[in-house]
Amino acid sequence: MVDYNYFSAESIKKLLYSNNLAMNKNLGQNFLISSSKCDEIASLVMTNAQKDKEIFEIGPGIGALTSVFLKNDYKVKSFEIDKGFARILHLNLACDNLTICEGDALKTLFLEPSCPDVVCGNLPYNISAVLISKIIENGIASSYPSFMVFLLQKEVALRFCADALSADYSSLSLIRSINYDANIALNIGRHCFFPPPSVDSSIVVFKRHESLIGDEVLRKKFIEVVRLLFAKRRKNIKNNMLFAKIENPDNVLRFSNLSPTLRAEQLKFSDFVCISKNLLNIEQKI
Ligand code: SAM
Repeated sequence: MVDYNYFSAESIKKLLYSNNLAMNKNLGQNFLISSSKCDEIASLVMTNAQKDKEIFEIGPGIGALTSVFLKNDYKVKSFEIDKGFARILHLNLACDNLTICEGDALKTLFLEPSCPDVVCGNLPYNISAVLISKIIENGIASSYPSFMVFLLQKEVALRFCADALSADYSSLSLIRSINYDANIALNIGRHCFFPPPSVDSSIVVFKRHESLIGDEVLRKKFIEVVRLLFAKRRKNIKNNMLFAKIENPDNVLRFSNLSPTLRAEQLKFSDFVCISKNLLNIEQKI
């Protein structure tokens, strides 16, 4: 393992220059250059991981977090889309404990044959909500990681962690609640990254709990209903249902004891479950 200074913008620039690489803004490439924050994130992950099981890391970049895991004898599987960064990881960090999976994590992660206990990453902003929702919706190899630590844009972090009916309550909070408790462990300012992004970030810890919706059919319908009722936030739930071409929304809402004039952000988890069950009942009768 090459001991490299991950926390200086100058040394990152030199590394990229000497390897003929450039940063790609479209891939959300902002490197964490605070060694203390990097250590804090790594400890959060490592205290919940076992040394004989792989930690899955999404978007390792040139390997700041990866190298801390490896130095502490943890096994890591890294999912990186950038071929140049994957080459740097091979050059600097190659060892028996590291597997590098090159490609789009939105695809490769879901081709894994088994589900890890722990998933983490400083996620590129453009894929973070989609990737986490996909893990919660589909699992990995039909199972769900017990612990996830992600560095996210602060606004997205707040939406994942929000309690029902609070200001940041959204479709992400509801979908997360199916399987996970989530809380913000740490806030990280934009100056801790190179290049600095235009937003601040937060570390979110997701801890799995018993599924609130065990039945797969109901789970899928619940997610569909959450998405369609939040599709147009300012519209009421009846109009969102009409927009999604749901027949007889008045009946569904009456059976669910909900006023058609409510908006999605005024409904609790149990209300979404109730609408989903009633829609399934109607579909089964047709
Ligand atoms: N982990 C490094 C750090 O903390 O300094 C880099 C984090 S940077 C915010 C995001 C990383 O995710 C980049 O290395 C980028 O190339 C990678 N990435 C972007 N889109 C990806 C995708 N769809 N699948 C896998 N990696 C991706």
